[in-house]
Amino acid sequence: MSSDLQVVLRGMRGAVRHNVSLAALTHLRVGGPAEWFLEPFAEEDVALAVATCKSLDVPLRVLGGGSNVLIADTGVRGAVVHLGNLNRIVRDGNRITAGAGVTLPSLLRATKEVGLAGLETLTGIPAQVGGAVAMNAGTRDGETFDHLVSLTVVDADGEIRVLPRDRCQPRYRDGGLLDQIVLQATFDLRQDDPKAIFERFAASLKKRNATQPVAQRSVGCVFRNPPGDAAGRLIEAAGCKTLKAGGIEVSGLHANYFVNLADGTCQDFLALMAEVRRRVQSQFGIWLEPEVKIWGL
Ligand SMILES: Cc1cc2nc3c(=O)[nH]c(=O)nc-3n(C[C@H](O)[C@H](O)[C@H](O)COP(=O)(O)OP(=O)(O)OC[C@H]3O[C@@H](n4cnc5c(N)ncnc54)[C@H](O)[C@@H]3O)c2cc1C
Repeated sequence: MSSDLQVVLRGMRGAVRHNVSLAALTHLRVGGPAEWFLEPFAEEDVALAVATCKSLDVPLRVLGGGSNVLIADTGVRGAVVHLGNLNRIVRDGNRITAGAGVTLPSLLRATKEVGLAGLETLTGIPAQVGGAVAMNAGTRDGETFDHLVSLTVVDADGEIRVLPRDRCQPRYRDGGLLDQIVLQATFDLRQDDPKAIFERFAASLKKRNATQPVAQRSVGCVFRNPPGDAAGRLIEAAGCKTLKAGGIEVSGLHANYFVNLADGTCQDFLALMAEVRRRVQSQFGIWLEPEVKIWGL
């Protein structure tokens, strides 16, 4: 039935393509093709795609900035939706509403330019707004939900709804949205001196550049921090820094980052994850849980 998707989705504004390589859309540059790749034009088109895929029993996933996904070398069955067309940023006083497809760096640039503060803790995270909300991306200094006031989402039936912040239950690196797709997010920020905002951005960036392999291909942190500890500390203490599997290596700068040296594969990445988990488990009795989302196996 999924081979009919192009025909059935004719009413959806935007592109519907078959067999599209996903590697270039991920930060790690790994993975095979999506059986179907959808780029809806507007929110109603996303809703139509969701409802149609549901009615045809076609599995549907949403790809944001591709900075926290590991895609199988054989690719993924069903539809992958990309929300790059939901790219508007609208200001209303101290409130900023951004489409799910806006990149965090462009959102941060926009807030900085108009002297709105609050999102500096997200500096350097290569996500889209939708992915940042879905993962409640952040650092020890703050998370995406800290300044969020409401979301527009589409649910698994294709219904668009507005969710106020108090109806959300975000946790550590999880926006708690289950199978709802973020269409846009509104943040309540505060006015501040643009120079002071810029200085906080610069300080955040400097710290990140010194402690993470930002210039290399990765998925950010591979494992979630276990309660009261840091996965990176455990991996380093287990002697895994610079451990390799094929073209993937545990970063020598930050051990919870695995970097693609050149032509690493998903299989290499998974083999390295397995070895690192085994070593950490045998040394510390802690079984690391993945933060990276693994698609298509
Ligand atoms: C160099 C580097 C540094 C990083 N630093 C940090 C950091 O400091 N803090 C941090 O938290 N993370 C960090 N990350 C990880 C990553 O950026 C975050 O997890 C981010 O939230 C992923 O967003 P994305 O848009 O890239 O989503 P993707 O990687 O495309 O997707 C991640 C998950 O979100 C879902 N998703 C994406 N868009 C939507 C949507 N619109 N609606 C619903 N679900 C959606 C996907 O289906 C998937 O399950 C880093 C990654 C890299 C490569």
